[in-house]
Parts: sequence; structure tokens; C-alpha cells
Amino acid sequence: MPQVLSHRQLADIATAFGTPVYVYHAERITEQYNLLKEAFREVNATFFYACKALTNINILKHIKSIGCNADCSSVNEVLLAVVAGFPPENILYTSSNISFAEIEAAEELGVHINIDSLSNLEKFGRKYGHSYPVGIRLRPNIMAGGNLKISTGHNKSKFGIPLEDIDKVLALMQETNLHIRTLHIHTGSEIKDVEVFAKGIEVLFSLVNHFPDLKVVDLGGGFKVPYAPGEEGTDIKALGAKVAEEFSSFEKQFGRKLEVWFEPGKFLVSEAGYLITSVNVLKQSGDIRFAGVDSGLNHLIRPMFYGAYHHIENISNDTGQMLPYTVVGNICETDTFADNRMISEIREDDYLVLYNAGAYGMEMASNYNSRFRPAEVLVKNNKPVLIRRRETLQDILNTQVVAAD
Ligand SMILES: *Cc1c(COP(=O)(O)O)cnc(C)c1O
Repeated sequence: MPQVLSHRQLADIATAFGTPVYVYHAERITEQYNLLKEAFREVNATFFYACKALTNINILKHIKSIGCNADCSSVNEVLLAVVAGFPPENILYTSSNISFAEIEAAEELGVHINIDSLSNLEKFGRKYGHSYPVGIRLRPNIMAGGNLKISTGHNKSKFGIPLEDIDKVLALMQETNLHIRTLHIHTGSEIKDVEVFAKGIEVLFSLVNHFPDLKVVDLGGGFKVPYAPGEEGTDIKALGAKVAEEFSSFEKQFGRKLEVWFEPGKFLVSEAGYLITSVNVLKQSGDIRFAGVDSGLNHLIRPMFYGAYHHIENISNDTGQMLPYTVVGNICETDTFADNRMISEIREDDYLVLYNAGAYGMEMASNYNSRFRPAEVLVKNNKPVLIRRRETLQDILNTQVVAAD
């Protein structure tokens, strides 16, 4: 059984630190990382945590301490990874439609770079030639992922260099002497089907012969984790076995050894995170039982943005009667966390916990309605520690400039 924080532990944290509060469990992250290492032990695999899922510096430090690398989606994330202590060779910057200036900044920091457009690739080749090994992000025209908003590899996606343009990549490589070390794809998030990854490998292997400097095949992230009770995630063991099989037959056929890189985000941190809220108001409307909580889409946007399911439990009443509730937030906007969900009888001031809140929770939070974002607490060795204080009105005013009349 995976490690979980108990209702009692969570309720104590809510009482000690106030609500709403995000709670993360360090050992749970470690456990997920160990699953990956174990599943891929037969391949030369390296894991870069896609830190856009959750960038609190303490989480980054924990990730580093367990031997995992960092994948970044902006130059600021690269800088955060540097602050967290990752050496440049353990940082990867997979870019998407960014300015060339950001790529230059990443080059100066000495991190790995995956370039996702012909125009930036051309600028890179002209400026650095063969001197700086680089990766290219390809769009493999594979439809995959939990829903269209999180599918990134299909033929209408903005991500990557379309496979149809491979000849243009090769021409640029000739012309500017580009040093292409990595071929990268990331086809989406919440990919359950191992075959999708196999398809990606097949696409990339078919291109290898064009790239004499190639050392790395980077398959991105997107491993699915269970959100609803009984739901299944990606079968990591089966994936590991499949990848091992593909790579060993490739080696036999081509006599070349390649590394494989992955960029898991959600897989490492989703289940390690909890959002605890307090119930402000109970409201009966016709046959709908609303539970209005002290949070909303400003703190966890996934239900409203992606239609995502987040499991909810009443940690203040373990033994109550199970009743259907519609759990909503306190934002002036429809912000439903759960619709007609069976939850142990809720009273005002009870604590509700939303599970799977580690990935794309706090990270996508905003100050909408001028509300403060939640505090964050990290539990490590059973000890809860504050890792982000609650905001104050001053934080909201800080960046505003009051113009002269
Ligand atoms: C978001 C992202 C990931 C991580 O996706 P998950 O679904 O969280 O695993 C990996 N690589 C790239 C390039 C990404 O943009």
C-alpha cells in the first residue's frame, strides 16, 4: 500500500496552520521515484522531474536529494532549479514558443535545452554551431492524453517541430553544423496506454540514422496516476519492460547505445499532495446539498478547467452517514469541486480534504477575487513544516504601482 497521511495527521495540520492549506508528503514522492527507478532498472534511464507541476523550492530540494533531475518549462523554472542546488547538467529546459533570448540565457547557464521550433533552431545553429549539444522537440502526430487540453503530440498541437518538417531540420543541421544530441517528444498528460509510448519510441527510432551525434531519446512525461477510487494509473512496470525490450532490440539492430530520458511531473507529486479546506456554509437548495468551503477555483482549478475528479473526504467526521454533497468554493464564479458526491455527513467548520492536490494545484493558483493563495506545509519524517506562509494584503499590493493623479 502506498504511504498516505492519515485523517488525524491532516486535521492536526489544518488546526496548526489554518486553512486552506496544501500539504505535501516527502516520503510519498520518494516512493514514486523509487517505483520509476525499479521499473526502468534494465534501461539506461534518467528522470527529470517536470517541475511545473509543483515548484516550491523545498520540493525541488527534496527531489534533488533523492537523486532525480529537473525539467523546466521556463527560464524562471531553470533559475529556481539552480537556487534549489541542481547542477546545470541535471537541469533540462524543454521550451515551447519562447523567445530566443531565453534560450541564450539557458545556454549561458549551461543546462540541457530542447528546442521546439525551426526558427529558434536556426538561430541556435547560427550562433552556436557544433559547440553546444542540443535537443529537438518533435511533434510526432500521436493523439494521446486524458483530454484535448492536455494532449500535446497530435497533428494540430502547437508543441514541437512537426514531423513533416524533418527535412528542414536536417537541412539546418547541414548548414549550421548543429550538434543534435537529443530527440524529444511529450505527447500529453495522463497517458495510461503503454502502447502510446511504444509508438513514440518507434517514431524516434525511425529517425535515429539521420542524427550522427544522437545520444538521448527523451520520451517526456505524462504517466497517469489514479485520481478516483478504483482508477488505475499507467502500468509503470509494463512500461519499463516495454522500453527495455525496444531499446535492446534497437541496440542489436543498429549497434548503437542510447540513453532514455523521462520527464514525469504528475507521477511524482500528484498523490503526495492534499488540499485541506474548511466548510464555511451548508446550504440546502431543492434536493442539492451544497457544502461551501474556504477555497475555490482560485486555489485548485483542475475540476473547472479540465473537468478533473479530485477525491474528497470529510476528515472531521470519519463515521458519519454517507450523503450526497455538491462541494463548491467561495469565489464569485461557478467553482464546483464535486457534484453530488457521497461524503461522510458534513457540518459547518468541518475539514474537507481534496486528494491528488500535489500536481498542478498550488502551481496554478491565483489571487482571483483578491483572495490569498493557500499556505504550504511539507511533511517529512512525520514532521510538518511550513514551506510557504499564507499571503497578506501587502503581498497583493506589492507589485501594484499607484499612479499619480
Ligand atoms: C508538463 C510536461 C511534462 C510533465 O507532464 P506530466 O503529465 O505532469 O507528467 C513533461 N514534459 C514536458 C515537456 C511538459 O511540458
